[in-house]
Amino acid sequence: MAVVQPVSVDEVVKVVKLAIDHGFKIVPVGSSTSLSGNATPKLENTVIVSLERMNSIIEVSDIDWYARVQPGIKVDELNLELMSYGLQWPVDPASSKTATVGGVISNGGGGMRGAKYGPASHWVLGLEAVIGTGDVIRVGCRTVKCREGYNLVQVFIGSEGTLGIVTEATLRLAPLPESFVGG
Ligand SMILES: Cc1cc2nc3c(=O)[nH]c(=O)nc-3n(C[C@H](O)[C@H](O)[C@H](O)COP(=O)(O)OP(=O)(O)OC[C@H]3O[C@@H](n4cnc5c(N)ncnc54)[C@H](O)[C@@H]3O)c2cc1C
Repeated sequence: MAVVQPVSVDEVVKVVKLAIDHGFKIVPVGSSTSLSGNATPKLENTVIVSLERMNSIIEVSDIDWYARVQPGIKVDELNLELMSYGLQWPVDPASSKTATVGGVISNGGGGMRGAKYGPASHWVLGLEAVIGTGDVIRVGCRTVKCREGYNLVQVFIGSEGTLGIVTEATLRLAPLPESFVGG
């Protein structure tokens, strides 16, 4: 078993190609908070690709209400930054302090505010991912109206890392509520 912590999509591509060449399986991992064990690899012949160090916010548009982020950013850290724009990514698993955006997307997560906002599948506009051949694909777009044939973004959401390693996400944002009640 090996653990790697890439810092860029190019490094993810290199890892995937090396794994293919040497016959290793790959398990992408965010913060490993998933309770269903889907981020718990078998140890033999496995490379764990931790996305922890790919944790930047690339762009926030407070005009079009989207953010482009790397997958390793934690949900609460993202929302703390978005507060200064009066915006939020309203997907709120109870693990949001620790869970990464990439992990939540790959789990199709949701939370207590799901009754109002729905789960992750409502809040992802586009994805960049490295698939099992080592190729980089980009699906979706930056706008809510996105017409591009098959909706591959939704296929990726909840796919638990089986279709590829998410290396960037374009997230749909919502305005912060005018007031909060409770904790
Ligand atoms: C205390 C606690 C409370 C929780 N509350 C909720 C809740 O309210 N609602 C809810 O839906 N869930 C909840 N969860 C589970 C929740 O699904 C996870 O916390 C979260 O979605 C996983 O994020 P993570 O970064 O830890 O991902 P991980 O656990 O590391 O990974 C989860 C899955 O995604 C894959 N993955 C991770 N990163 C990537 C990537 N970049 N590309 C491709 N695949 C990737 C992994 O291989 C794995 O299959 C809770 C968990 C805990 C421990």
